[in-house]
Amino acid sequence: MSYSLTIGSIRCHIISDGHQWSDGGGFFGLVPRILWEPVIRPDERNRIPVVLRSLLIESDAGLILVDTGQGDKLGDREWRRLGMAPRRERLVGEMAALGFKPDDVDTVLFTHLHADHAGGATRWSTLDDPTSPLVPTFSNARYLAQRIDLADASFPNERTRGTYFPQNWQPLEAAGLLDVVDGDQQLASGVRTEVVPGHTGSIQAVWIEDGGDSLLFLGDTCSWAAHMDRLAWVPAFDIYPMQSIEGKRRLRAQAFAKKSLLVFQHDSQVVTGRLAEGERGPFVQAEIMEDGWALAESGKG
Ligand SMILES: [Zn+2]
Repeated sequence: MSYSLTIGSIRCHIISDGHQWSDGGGFFGLVPRILWEPVIRPDERNRIPVVLRSLLIESDAGLILVDTGQGDKLGDREWRRLGMAPRRERLVGEMAALGFKPDDVDTVLFTHLHADHAGGATRWSTLDDPTSPLVPTFSNARYLAQRIDLADASFPNERTRGTYFPQNWQPLEAAGLLDVVDGDQQLASGVRTEVVPGHTGSIQAVWIEDGGDSLLFLGDTCSWAAHMDRLAWVPAFDIYPMQSIEGKRRLRAQAFAKKSLLVFQHDSQVVTGRLAEGERGPFVQAEIMEDGWALAESGKG
């Protein structure tokens, strides 16, 4: 499901690589199920529908794509485990519906290199043939990864090994398309990143600011709206949970002061929202909502 909007004079598109089914405990960490269940209903296997959103930005420095979803390289076992529809080219298909080809992308920004964000960066040259060579999906783009993130991904540990797959970035390195960056980046006029460690050591959120309006693409610094309302709600995936809480506190203060439009990358119900003052502090007032269960089950969203 895609949504087009304008921040000042900057045109943006929220697009998606579809839905996967993830264990609810992964996204809600220490929070008991009886507390998170009213937010999103799990299935009989305790799985919740999760969206793989990306952001496409028409900037004055060209077309910028933030994250690439799972992509098309997963085998049958992984597709089954993730409960994903066997539909191919989901993200690229949403781009095509908006009139963009993969070759139109000038910059691919990785918020971080976890597989559900970097998987779509490369593909088999023959889409369904895993024996065909791996190639960059966006062949004209420079790909940007944070140095610490690339180091963590290149030398994973027992905890992180299951989500860092070299096939998602090594073909980019081999093609000379991967740029390693360090710290906050200015990508174009009104488009910048902010490194907010917690989920990973150098995960970055993306700010779009123009004409007094702003958008904050939170990535996995805060992947569900409920995690913004309750700072203590931190996914089990986060490797530095206390930093996640402080990072969210900082982003929330900025977004509240600027009345920014928040975009939630994995929330299958709240796509966007803005912070309003509540009795227990700022909370997210949803603007765009989806029926995550219906979309995930239909395999269309
Ligand atoms: Zn993620």
